[in-house]
Amino acid sequence: MTHGFDTLQVHAGARPDPATGARQTPIYQTTAYVFRDADHAAALFNLQEVGYIYSRLTNPTVAALQERVATLEGGAGAVCCSSGHAAQIMALFPLMGPGLNIVASTRAYGGTITQFSQTIKRFGWSCKFVDFDDLGAVEAAIDDNTRAVFCETIANPGGYITDLDAIAAIADKAGLPLIVDNTSATPYLCRPIEHGATLVVHSLTKYMTGNGTVTGGAVVDSGTFDWSASGKFPSLSDPEPAYHGLKFHETFGSLAFTFHSIAIGLRDLGMTMNPQGAHYTLMGIETLSLRMRRHVENAERVAAWLEQHPAIEQVTYAGLPSSPYHDRVAKICPEGAGGLFTVALKGGYESCTKFVDALQIFSHVANLGDARSLVIHSASTTHRQLSEEQQIAAGAAPNVVRISIGIEDPEDLIADLEQALAQAG
Ligand SMILES: *Cc1c(COP(=O)(O)O)cnc(C)c1O
Repeated sequence: MTHGFDTLQVHAGARPDPATGARQTPIYQTTAYVFRDADHAAALFNLQEVGYIYSRLTNPTVAALQERVATLEGGAGAVCCSSGHAAQIMALFPLMGPGLNIVASTRAYGGTITQFSQTIKRFGWSCKFVDFDDLGAVEAAIDDNTRAVFCETIANPGGYITDLDAIAAIADKAGLPLIVDNTSATPYLCRPIEHGATLVVHSLTKYMTGNGTVTGGAVVDSGTFDWSASGKFPSLSDPEPAYHGLKFHETFGSLAFTFHSIAIGLRDLGMTMNPQGAHYTLMGIETLSLRMRRHVENAERVAAWLEQHPAIEQVTYAGLPSSPYHDRVAKICPEGAGGLFTVALKGGYESCTKFVDALQIFSHVANLGDARSLVIHSASTTHRQLSEEQQIAAGAAPNVVRISIGIEDPEDLIADLEQALAQAG
């Protein structure tokens, strides 16, 4: 029996607690689990029986969340971890090795650009950044050492939507997995697996939890990629020395990536999500569709109002008919273009700092995807270390403010923006 999204977001992965009948998923605040006997312990360690050993690997509260996220994304399995950035490393870890590279979109979350351009070099991995609207350039960037293609559905800070089907076709032709960061869209607005994604990564910190309480991440596996076809993914296809020669793909089929991520990724990298965090995220996801509908409705209204304001030079929101990416909304995220966009103020840098200081409902913070409305002036904060040219290339020019629209009354948001723009001069 298949259920609708609104039903699944409340029920998937959760069942009454077998010990107590508790209706809400309990927080299993435990490190370890008693083995029935020595044979049971051995079977668990051999991955012959699925169960709980130690909470760095698996925990019942986290497992409920994993099943819920996998179900909503239409994947075979999911692994949760400590943050969105941890999820990106967890997604690449089974695929990569020294000397290997990924091809990623230039339009990405600022932290992702740093992680991929600097930090992964310490593992001997590298990243080639390409304009994903130039399909020929994406194809040309792929070489014999490429192991994945990476992009965001709705690229943070908003306004850009990736043509996932076109990128998936290129990855497919090259025999490579496509990894899609679906943080800004959430599975309510887009399910990248339906557009050809192999793996979906999330920062659960944002819309999925939805109230700014948790840092968490997830990697969802579509279960459809043939890890053995090319010989390029030996950790999944060949005997894995880190797990006494186990062949993950042969043994676990469509769950190979998920089992590898738990048995080796979480075991040895330790980027584990805690059960408290999983509980908050489970509760947040129960209202995901209700919130996303309101985020979209509010963003459409506020963006349209801002676009006609005389102090505003430009609004980059794909939900506006003026956006060059407006036609991709119907194809990639028909329920709406999300709740994130940027505005450029005619008054420049000075005007932006006055604007963010004058706002009362909107908070000036380094976060997005919260129930409350948030802003950040990137040029004076997150992108402060960059040159002006680099700031412009990253969509964070000195006169740009990023806005994450919350679920408050849209009239109140507009009134707050109006008084702040008046003060910004
Ligand atoms: C926030 C964010 C991340 C990083 O997630 P954390 O939970 O902060 O580690 C990655 N991608 C996107 C699109 C984000 O918005």
